[in-house]
Amino acid sequence: MDAWDYSPFWIEAMKQLAEELSEQEFSMWFSIDYDSATQNTINIRVPSAFFRDQLAKNYQARIEKKLYEISGKQLSIDFVVVKPATDENAAKYHSPKTLDSSQDEPRKTNSQSDKNLIAKEPTQPVKHPQMNLNHTFENYVIGENNSFAANAALAIAKNPGKAYNPFLVYGGVGLGKTHLMQAIGNRAFGLNQKLKIICVSAETFTNDFIEALNAQKLSAFKNRYRSVDMLLIDDIHFFDKKESLQEEVFYTFNALYDAGKQMVFTCDRPASELKNLNDRLRSRFERGIKVDLQPPSYEMRFAIIKRKAEGLNTTISDDVIDFIARNISTNIRDIESALTTLVAFTELSNKKIDLKTTEQVLKDSINQIKHSNVTIDHIIRAISDHFRVSSNDLKGKKRNKNIVFPRQVAMFIARDITEYSTTEIGLEFGGRDHTTVMHSCQKTEERLKIDPTLDITIQKIIQVIKDGSKA
Ligand code: ADP
Ligand code: MG
Repeated sequence: MDAWDYSPFWIEAMKQLAEELSEQEFSMWFSIDYDSATQNTINIRVPSAFFRDQLAKNYQARIEKKLYEISGKQLSIDFVVVKPATDENAAKYHSPKTLDSSQDEPRKTNSQSDKNLIAKEPTQPVKHPQMNLNHTFENYVIGENNSFAANAALAIAKNPGKAYNPFLVYGGVGLGKTHLMQAIGNRAFGLNQKLKIICVSAETFTNDFIEALNAQKLSAFKNRYRSVDMLLIDDIHFFDKKESLQEEVFYTFNALYDAGKQMVFTCDRPASELKNLNDRLRSRFERGIKVDLQPPSYEMRFAIIKRKAEGLNTTISDDVIDFIARNISTNIRDIESALTTLVAFTELSNKKIDLKTTEQVLKDSINQIKHSNVTIDHIIRAISDHFRVSSNDLKGKKRNKNIVFPRQVAMFIARDITEYSTTEIGLEFGGRDHTTVMHSCQKTEERLKIDPTLDITIQKIIQVIKDGSKA
């Protein structure tokens, strides 16, 4: 296959267009397929010359703009007329699936991209000492929130070092960053065991470095890390605040980048929010493709629970799955541990997994999760009640004092008691910039210094939020 595989960008662009256009318009015009790509051009198969001309006239600029937004590259489109084998529609861009789930096998088409992205891989799993063999694409459930990430990851596993380098996966805890990163490594290793892969946490990298430094074996350390074909580093937020280490990472990065070797990093927030990362390293981390893993939707949670239950050799009825999916929405790790608790309990007590047992067994875990996971919505609701302003106004554009003040307090509280980043908070407050959130927090801190009653108010609201989020 060609070295320039831009099909994940294409799929993501089509997915977004499917959401923006009416179903009718989309299915009418977008029965078109990714064919191949060169460095700056994507070749798209269209069913006739008529389609080619209409698409070029009405949609080409829009698609190219979208591709630019997604990939950061100026990619142009070439429409190639090929008589179609079957028609396609928007449906395939929806509903959670795994990359190999046979019940979701895509319809047979002559589309190269489908084959590349969703078909089964005839690879044998091969254990790599630094990776977990369960962290595969086969075990990775794909939904709206991670399809772009997963497809890009798959393209990397097949063609390391080509179009997506480095690959930076970020997102909150338990959302599948480590799994996805190792899936790349496992697949690449399965395809080619000669590939030299290092997969480490940022912490291990750091410890190796310090050990080498102490033992005066720095050159061995450098040789080891700079001679790999693929370097996977988990949780790079660990490098924040570590100056001398950042220097070493920087040189390792440059050596591998210049040699066209693949790098994959995960981080718990966008690199722009690592406050103590030096700028040149930050710009390196952000040079390639960045993908953001979002918390799973209800459908996705449902699909994951079903699949994990199968993995545990238990069948769980849909009402129980629904109960878990509705009550545990934080992340996939929490879902997994709830399920393990449930299965363990029922096996030990010889009970059937029904709704009543599930409610009893998971009551505590659910309360605990809810307590530690206040959402921005909880905060907006409490602020809205306390100051008697509507949540729409809190998220809206109005700048009157009686709205601006509560809005700033809300953002301050969000920063204070949740793990959301300023970027995420800004988005929740009507798509504001993260600098606005930072400004709001500063303002509130200044006020706190001169107005002792404000602290009492804020503590009261926080209590309401915490109680409310447990309900
Ligand atoms: P993170 O590194 O983001 O904290 P992990 O990759 O460790 O999260 O994922 C937490 C758990 O959830 C792991 O056991 C992982 O296998 C599982 N998991 C995460 N995402 C998915 C997914 N899309 N499909 C199936 N399991 C997943
Ligand atoms: Mg992780």
